Amino acid sequence: MKQCDVLVLGLGAAGSAATYQLAKRGVKVVGLDSFAPPHDQGSSHGDSRITRLAIGEGVAYSPLAMRSHQIWRDMERETGADLMRQTGGLIMTSPGKTSVLPVDNFFSTTVAAAKVHGIAHEILDAREIARRFPAFNVREDEVAYYEQEAGYLKPENCLRTQLALAEKYGAELRTGEKVLGFEPSAHGVRVTTEHQVYEAGKLIAAAGAWMPQLIGARYAKLFTVRRQVLFWFAVNGPIEPFLPDNFPIYIWELQGPERGIYGFPSSGNAGDGVKVATHGFGPVTTPDTIDRTVNADEAAEMHAEYVAPYLPTLDRRCIKAVVCMYTVLPGDRFLIDVLPESDRIIVASPCSGHGFKHSAAIGEALAEMVTAGKTRLDLSPFRFSEFGI
Ligand SMILES: Cc1cc2nc3c(=O)[nH]c(=O)nc-3n(C[C@H](O)[C@H](O)[C@H](O)COP(=O)(O)OP(=O)(O)OC[C@H]3O[C@@H](n4cnc5c(N)ncnc54)[C@H](O)[C@@H]3O)c2cc1C
Repeated sequence: MKQCDVLVLGLGAAGSAATYQLAKRGVKVVGLDSFAPPHDQGSSHGDSRITRLAIGEGVAYSPLAMRSHQIWRDMERETGADLMRQTGGLIMTSPGKTSVLPVDNFFSTTVAAAKVHGIAHEILDAREIARRFPAFNVREDEVAYYEQEAGYLKPENCLRTQLALAEKYGAELRTGEKVLGFEPSAHGVRVTTEHQVYEAGKLIAAAGAWMPQLIGARYAKLFTVRRQVLFWFAVNGPIEPFLPDNFPIYIWELQGPERGIYGFPSSGNAGDGVKVATHGFGPVTTPDTIDRTVNADEAAEMHAEYVAPYLPTLDRRCIKAVVCMYTVLPGDRFLIDVLPESDRIIVASPCSGHGFKHSAAIGEALAEMVTAGKTRLDLSPFRFSEFGI
């Protein structure tokens, strides 16, 4: 039986951040993953993730995003890695919107969060949006919240860098090793994998979309796993309006369709296309049964309904499409807490489709939970009790 102070189950966004932060604090930590992160089987792949400081999902999230920005920049300074690009970000809405985002009042909560946390922003009318960002086909009654510090993270680079730093500080990483189950034991937590049994002082379970399979029936019902697709469309015309210096990240409550969209600037290479996706409401699935292929009809429908009317210079030619999973909790919240049965098992499920931007600070908070029993940032909105448990 192998012994360690802490075992981290899952080395995706949350687990790689926690493993790095624990190792940096001198904790004897083992990180396990079924695959070799960064990989494309979970929730942390696809080139880019939006980051923004004023969070429409709730005012309580902003301190996590703000602290994460500091950590990503510290990691860049330490390693030279390219993790975050601050392009500015638009949240667009209108009285005539028909599309809904997974949470209500996204726009007004964003503005409220900016005011509460002193986040610099501007409110732009349609004319000003069109003047600054001509690639968007905005309607007269549309308005935007514009945040200069918003932008995007490179998720694969973030995971790679956190795992490299974790190893540098002494973590043991074991990839290609699937955890079969875990249970409280006399001295901590017994974790059984395909290869061996571990006796850990504490366990951080950060299994993403696999969490419902591992956590037991009482809690599994809290999670819904959804299939989401990311599309990259070719640019029909000059690439300049989509370059990161000219084009922000955006989330847009549209007039016409049912769902909202979000997207990113071009990578700078015209051949890569420009990434656009709809937010939330993909079909319910599981990691074992999900359809990971995207057929031509799906891309054509996406372009016709969600792209052509709003970004008219994006061509119907789909260069790439990738399938990913949202692990959604009620209210689009996160769950980060000790298991009610055992304070040695910490569950970390920060997804609901918006967790990446917060993951660096969540990793730090998980390490503080283990080493100090409390966290500097307030994680009380993410407790089991918030879900009636
Ligand atoms: C399409 C899409 C777009 C998104 N866009 C944004 C965005 O723009 N901005 C933003 O902030 N967030 C965004 N998110 C959310 C964000 O990406 C997730 O919140 C985050 O990646 C979740 O990280 P995680 O660590 O919980 O899961 P993952 O990164 O999936 O990690 C879980 C890990 O656990 C491992 N694992 C599972 N079971 C086992 C087992 N039994 N044994 C060993 N290992 C196991 C898996 O292999 C995996 O590596 C998006 C998500 C998706 C899917």
